[in-house]
Amino acid sequence: MDLLRVLELYSGIGGMHYALKGSSFGFSFVDSLCLAAKCLSPLAESSVSAEVVAAVDVNTTANEIYKHNFTNTPLLPKTIEGMTLQDFDKLNFDMILMSPPCQPFTRIGLQGDVTDPRTKSFLYILDLLPRLSKCPQFVLLENVKGFETSAARDALLNTLRQCDYSFQEFLFSPTHLGIPNSRLRYFLIARRPPGCFSFQTSAEIMEGFPRPVSSESSDNPAVPNNHPTPSDSESKSSGPIIFKLETAQELERKRNQDSQETVRRLQEFLREDDDMDQYLLPPKTLLRYALLMDIVQPSSRRSVCFTKGYGHYVEGTGSVLQSCVDVDLESVFKSLELLSDEDKLMQLLRLKLRYFTPREIANLMGFPEDFTFPEHISVKQQYRVLGNSLNIHVVSNLIQLMMS
Ligand code: SAH
Repeated sequence: MDLLRVLELYSGIGGMHYALKGSSFGFSFVDSLCLAAKCLSPLAESSVSAEVVAAVDVNTTANEIYKHNFTNTPLLPKTIEGMTLQDFDKLNFDMILMSPPCQPFTRIGLQGDVTDPRTKSFLYILDLLPRLSKCPQFVLLENVKGFETSAARDALLNTLRQCDYSFQEFLFSPTHLGIPNSRLRYFLIARRPPGCFSFQTSAEIMEGFPRPVSSESSDNPAVPNNHPTPSDSESKSSGPIIFKLETAQELERKRNQDSQETVRRLQEFLREDDDMDQYLLPPKTLLRYALLMDIVQPSSRRSVCFTKGYGHYVEGTGSVLQSCVDVDLESVFKSLELLSDEDKLMQLLRLKLRYFTPREIANLMGFPEDFTFPEHISVKQQYRVLGNSLNIHVVSNLIQLMMS
């Protein structure tokens, strides 16, 4: 195949670029994941040469990090809606990779959808697409769960139909690939001319990879159709609290996840740096939020989604790690409410709870070893941009699926 010209919109720190590299240059993580290896290695073999001809983002910090890692990629530090049709035409691209802002579609956001000003640039792209002198052959979009029920998604599908694309929607989490981190996201891959995907598309949103059209034998499944693990369903259960504000059902769900041997253990992704004390949870945070934190151990096979407030806000932004594993978690929490603050703190400190480092989160998200931050970027900024980014392994697989 010729060199593909790729346009990376909303490029952030370059998650899409790394995913593309992963699929183009045989960065074959799939081989190391037993779950995915069976189904995806045939795709990995069909390597594709691709080049990011332009990345576009307005965020100064993200752009600095992008430039630091992709020194040779043209990065346009401007708004997408500030680019004209001619600007886009000049780039002469074959593929769009994009992650439009997701706040208009999140459950905790106001769900402004198409009326949210942050959706404006995306609607602008949809307006431009049919007017380009050459419609790109491939389009891949990532967004949050919630996008699939939005008016923005309907507008996207209408535009793709109008421009004669085949497309497939997915809800996919890294846990499907054996990675111990939940990050359930919406993805869409589109290709033209219609009908040239290697798998049968479906109007349903797929939760796992489809089988290639050519696969006949059912005992050699091309793709495991794993359904999201319960951690991804984000359902809260009711019932009496056992400990740490958790019900028997929630505890059971976590235990189930930890017993899934197809998912790797967190310890494989951990990497302590020189100054680990800065990641320990401060006493004030422990006293205030201990009952609300999702606590995992190095041997766990799960962690909740790391979002941009991680390390700053505690509730619902990502798991924290119990680094002293000799202490029994349940015994610490069992009678905690009965203790004075001072004794409570003494108990909680025994667990040595700490935040995952940015590098550890980057590892879980599939960023390669050579991905680094410029020195002056603070830890808080690192968490922020990582929280906005994506799981590279998941997108890499989808790019391969889109192009095979
Ligand atoms: N996939 C990216 C993150 C996408 S988050 C990564 O791997 O890091 C959405 C990004 O869109 C943010 O970096 C934000 O700065 C950028 N953005 C939001 N509105 C924009 C606009 N109108 N024009 C250009 N970039 C925009």
